[in-house]
Formats: sequence, structure tokens, C-alpha cells
Amino acid sequence: MASAQSAWQPRIAIIGAGISGIAAVVKLRKAGFSQLTVFEKADKVGGTWRENTYPGLACDIPSHWYSFSFEPNPDWHHRCAHGPEIQAYLERTAQKYGVTDIVRFNSAVTRLVYQAPHWLLYCNGQNSEPEQFDIVISATGILHRTIMPAIPGLDDFAGASFHSAHWDHSVDYHGKRIGVIGTGSTSCQIVGAVTKDAQHLTLFQRTAQWVMPSPQKAYSNFTRWLRKVWPFRSVLSKVVWRAYAENTLGRANAGNKALVKLIDVIARWHLKKYVPDPVLRAKLTPDYVVGCKRLIYSSDFYPAISRENASVVTEGIERIEAEGVRTNDGVLHPLDILVLATGFDASSFILPTQVIGENGQELSEVWDGSPRAHRAVAMPGFPNFWMVEGPTGPIGNFSLIAISESQVDYIIRCLNEMHARKSAWMAPTQEAFKNYNEAMNAAVVNTSWYHGGCNSWYLDKSGLPNLYPWLSSRYFKEMKTPDFSEFRFS
Ligand code: NAP
Repeated sequence: MASAQSAWQPRIAIIGAGISGIAAVVKLRKAGFSQLTVFEKADKVGGTWRENTYPGLACDIPSHWYSFSFEPNPDWHHRCAHGPEIQAYLERTAQKYGVTDIVRFNSAVTRLVYQAPHWLLYCNGQNSEPEQFDIVISATGILHRTIMPAIPGLDDFAGASFHSAHWDHSVDYHGKRIGVIGTGSTSCQIVGAVTKDAQHLTLFQRTAQWVMPSPQKAYSNFTRWLRKVWPFRSVLSKVVWRAYAENTLGRANAGNKALVKLIDVIARWHLKKYVPDPVLRAKLTPDYVVGCKRLIYSSDFYPAISRENASVVTEGIERIEAEGVRTNDGVLHPLDILVLATGFDASSFILPTQVIGENGQELSEVWDGSPRAHRAVAMPGFPNFWMVEGPTGPIGNFSLIAISESQVDYIIRCLNEMHARKSAWMAPTQEAFKNYNEAMNAAVVNTSWYHGGCNSWYLDKSGLPNLYPWLSSRYFKEMKTPDFSEFRFS
């Protein structure tokens, strides 16, 4: 990739020091950009892996694929790394590449205002004076605003209660009666980890989930040593898992019915093998197409929920009381600890930061609950404002690190083009944005996320899935060669 000439050093603000922010800094520096400042609301790097610390936390994407291209890690201890190991990897990488040095911690960006051709950035915890930047890159992640369920009486509970993303480690869950509301990826990992130590675990399930066996396995010292002396093994692992994900679930979600059927057969076999009780099995059998919600990979969940000290409650929740959860049938389920594994608002992206673009238009109003972007990274009317992991990217059961890196590379190609044209700013045209999103809207209705008969965090206010509807390989190819006719330049 062409390097920026040292004569041109735009001031670049990067918002967020998680995976995308770290990738942005490392790659921008490598491309010759040095005037970089990272704003991070918390006191550590790591993003979602810093925030989530619940028992059982792991990545269900194989680690050698879920690693930065510039920082392969032969030392992963598991095929699907546990949360603390990923957080340590992110902190180590940020330190090694000098990212940590340029992060302003405890600095939440509250407001961005475009005053051509600059952005004014307002931050909490600082003097009221805004700072001026030429380029803003939002790397805020997708799942960071927790959803608290609108269940009456939530504050009345006398025991310990917390959202899964704010796990209270001062509470000892061993030997306690634990209730978990929600049955997503997070809940399955928590249930898989804590049930054996609970007096009783009650899972409050509104919708059953399809659960596939996890490819998890521990790597021996010998395997890790072998990966160090022969790095090709890690590269091979990455290539194989990526091809596997794309050609199985990726194609199934994009509309391949034979693959949907195959995954359905495997998921049903998994359920039958590990849940011998037919009554429990019936409760845990979803009534929608496999892959409609994000597919869960777990080999711990079914054995855990089949234990004698576990139960699944499918009756709706009426209210929370001091003693526990009362369901619509009048039954009180007494609890000591209540975990809200109720997910995240996936429609916010950089919001609630107020972003004001050309002509005073506000990003929150433009999006109005249905965020869209041009190729998931830019918005017409918001010049020099870029997003990593913005709306409609090819997320789902795929390595977010690979996606972030391809988006950062695209942004760098755009910055270099801007420089070559001696432009002060660039932004996608309304027409390019419209054409791209119309094609996407037409294609997304063919995916199982749309017609699979379920509700999920993929769907936004428009009723459409906020996802890239084609194969991820197509996205990577498109991002390699930006079409600059899709942009306005100053
Ligand atoms: P989620 O998938 O959105 O699941 C939330 C759960 O809470 C759903 O079962 C939902 O039920 C339930 N729920 C919400 N409000 C409720 C209410 N008022 N009453 C009863 N139930 C309620 O959230 P998540 O499990 O935290 O996962 C979110 C995403 O994080 C995942 O899809 C994944 O992308 C990511 N994640 C990844 C990993 C990994 O290993 N890579 C691990 C954890 C999370 P309904 O289904 O009926 O709406």
C-alpha cells in the first residue's frame, strides 16, 4: 500500500481503543501517518474484551483467525481463546506497537462538529475547548450499549443483579441459586461455566437458540512450540477456518438451502445427543430457521442445562420481586443472583456521541434507528468521517479482526487518494450511498436473517438485517480497490 508522503500529516482522531482502534493505529502508522490521537472512554485498551469478564467468556471464532495479521500469536492456549487471554493479547499488542502511548484514557468523545474542512472534537473530562482534527475515525465497536430488560420490579430484587457485561466479581456464585435471563451466545457461555458450581441454575428463556458443537480444544505445549518454529501452521489454520466459515454458514445465510438443511441436521443431532430428556429437548428446540439468529457454538451449554440442578423456564416473566422472578403462571422462582444476559443495542455504533456533519445534519437523525453507511465505513454529508465496523458490515459468525483490518486498509487507500488529489476532504456521494444500500436492501431479503422467522439484534428499526448480505469474500475484494468515482473530493 502506498505510504502517505511525510509532507502531509493530517491530524487524525481515532475513537475507541478496542480491536478496531488498535488496528487503525498500527496500520495508519505503517502507512506513514503519525499525527494520531486515540480517545478511549475507559482506563484500558481492549473494548469488548475489557468490558466483558463473565465466567465462561471465550471467543467462538478460532484464535489464529481471530488475531491481527501483523501480530500472529503462536502461543494461543485454546483453539477458541478465553476472554482473559484475548484481553492480554490486545494489551500486549497495543503496548508493543506504541498504541497505548497515544491513547487518552477516561476520555469519552461527546460531540463531533464538522466545520469545513475540520472536525471539532468535544470530550468529557477535559477543558470545554474543543480540539480540531482533519480526519475522524470511529472505532467504537458494535455491541457496547447494554440492554436492560423492561421487566417491572427490576430494582426490587434483594439479591445481586447485574448485566452480563458488568459481571460483579465481588459476588460469589458458588452454592447459590442463580437465575439467567436470556439465551444468546453470552448466556450459553455463562450457563456452561457456572451451573456445576450453583446450588440451582434457572434459565429464563424467551426464545430457544440453535446451538452447534464448538470446535474448542486446548493446545498442548508441543503444539504451541511447533507453531512458534513453524508459523505456517497458524497461517494455514486461519485460511482453513475462514474458508470453512464462508462456505458453510456464510453461504447458508446468503440463501443456500442445502447448507441450511445440513446445519439444521447437525444442530438437531447435537441437541439430541446431549439433551436426553425429551421434555427439556422440546423446550430447547427453536421454531425458526437455523442461522436466523447468530449461530451459537458451545459444547458446554447442553450438558450444563441437562444437569439435575438446572431448569429452563419458558413461561413469560411477569415481574421481579425481592425474592426472585415471578412468571406469568404465578410461580415465584427464588434466587440469590440474577444475571441479565439480555444483549446490546446494536443500532447505536458511535451514538450517543453527537455527530454533526455538513449543513448541521445530525447523524442520529439521518440514521433514525436504521444506521446505514457506504461500504460500512463512510457517510454522505459527513466528510472525512470514517467508521471501522460501521453499519452493514459482514459481521455475524466471522472474525471481526479481519473485517476491521480490511476497512482500515480501505480508509488508508482513500486518504492517500485524497492527498494525491490535494483535496482537503472527501465523502461518498449521495448517489453512490443510495445505489449501494438499495442493492443491499434488495439482497438482504434473501438471507435467512430476514426470512428465517426470528427476531434478532441483526434487525433494526427498518425491519431489515443490518448486515452485509453477500459472501464476505466479496466484501474483502470490493474493499481492496476503492472506486473513487463514488466520492466527492474538495
Ligand atoms: P443476544 O444474542 O442479543 O441475546 C439476548 C437474549 O436476551 C435473547 O435470548 C433475548 O431473547 C433475551 N432477552 C432480551 N430481553 C429480554 C426480556 N425482556 N425478557 C426475556 N428475555 C429477554 O445477546 P448476547 O447473548 O449478549 O450476544 C450478543 C452478541 O454478542 C452475540 O450475538 C455475538 O455477536 C456477541 N458475542 C459473541 C461471543 C463470541 O464468542 N464471539 C460471545 C458472546 C457474545 P429473544 O431471543 O427472545 O429476543
